[in-house]
Amino acid sequence: KRRVLIIGAGQAAVQAAVSLRTEGFDDEIVVLGDEGRLPYQRPPLSKAYLSDGREDILALRPSGFWEKSHISIEPDRPIIAVDRMEREVIDSKDKRLSFTHLIFATGARARTLALPGGDLHGVLSLRTVADATRLRTMLDCHKRIVAIGAGFVGMETAAALAGLGHQVTVVEAGERCLGRAVSGITSETLADGLRQRGVDLRLSAQIERIVGSEGIVFGVQLRDGPIIPADIVLIATGAQPNDQLAAACGLDTTIGICVDSHLRTSDDGIFAIGDCASFDCPREGRNLRLESVQNASDHGRSVALSILGRPVPHDRRPWFWSDQGMCKLQIAGLALPHDDTHTVLSGGKIAAFRFRRERLIAVETVNDPAEHIKARKILAAGPGPTYDDLKAAGFSLGGLA
Ligand code: FAD
Repeated sequence: KRRVLIIGAGQAAVQAAVSLRTEGFDDEIVVLGDEGRLPYQRPPLSKAYLSDGREDILALRPSGFWEKSHISIEPDRPIIAVDRMEREVIDSKDKRLSFTHLIFATGARARTLALPGGDLHGVLSLRTVADATRLRTMLDCHKRIVAIGAGFVGMETAAALAGLGHQVTVVEAGERCLGRAVSGITSETLADGLRQRGVDLRLSAQIERIVGSEGIVFGVQLRDGPIIPADIVLIATGAQPNDQLAAACGLDTTIGICVDSHLRTSDDGIFAIGDCASFDCPREGRNLRLESVQNASDHGRSVALSILGRPVPHDRRPWFWSDQGMCKLQIAGLALPHDDTHTVLSGGKIAAFRFRRERLIAVETVNDPAEHIKARKILAAGPGPTYDDLKAAGFSLGGLA
């Protein structure tokens, strides 16, 4: 009898377990989590959850689903080691559990900052529902909040908190927000959106230290600058993969657990998916580690097929979304900062078409869901379309030529 063990009980783990069942795996599936709660989605944590605090809508599946699907779920069973020789995992109570197939779906954790003052009360990061709840409980009255980092979590949280009436500053070391993820025009559009919401966005700003008194934060000291007063400091400088367990049992890791295009590690029978996986992407011709719901879900589907002996190379075009106040960013495809950008602006919407060697590789849209869906379809249809293909498909290309 086979037993698939999944370490981690997040987005990727849930999809892998569900896909194994729906694709016909009828032996044992065990999902092992460490957050002490049933699987939930993270995107609302930096958006709606901050204002509505509704935990019931976070669940990835209704609580009765697991029993009905014959999937064992143990949300409070942290795994501390993997014994590859014996084909067993070891939990924090030193109990062993055997597997025929093992999936690492351990996700990522918020990156910490080695800054003086980082341990003061009022300094926090945002990755889990426990983090978001802690942040919510601090918002009892008007607060001054400084977010360090203008990445997705920093921008989304800033927009949400400003919308709730708090005084928010975002401090970013780079010259623009979301510098690695989107084109210059999209950065500017999102920065404008944030400023219109009342957020003080400071770019190219270096932080010297976080300052406090009697253990409680009261500000952020900029290098060569003033102290920005703060009751709460949010460290939003990105995430790093939870790949320590895999590294400790001798699997290859290089900023993520290395897997091939079928999501297999160098050990046949051990796989890695979602935020923790650095996977070989044939289309890009390089290893990718992505942090998105779509990537985690698609990995879950692909790994199920690999385990069932019907492997299909994981080669899907990524897509992504981020809600930042009134701006809804959607990205179809994957571009690098130096790829060409052609922008079309119309009536408050923008679309940035990203080209590499005259072929479309990605489209970033702000407040234009219809164009995003069209872009996903045309990018999924085959090798990168040219300008003529786009015109024939009815894109509103404006002056783009
Ligand atoms: P996770 O969801 O992180 O799940 C991994 C789980 O494994 C965690 O519960 C972890 O505690 C557990 N674990 C780790 N080690 C062990 C162990 N040893 N034993 C047992 N359990 C373990 N993506 C989007 O596409 N759009 C968005 O708008 C968006 N917004 C986001 C907002 C926030 C605040 C955050 C934090 C993320 C957001 N994301 C968004 C990213 C998205 O949520 C992640 O890419 C996705 O959750 C990844 O799924 P995963 O299963 O790989 O990892």
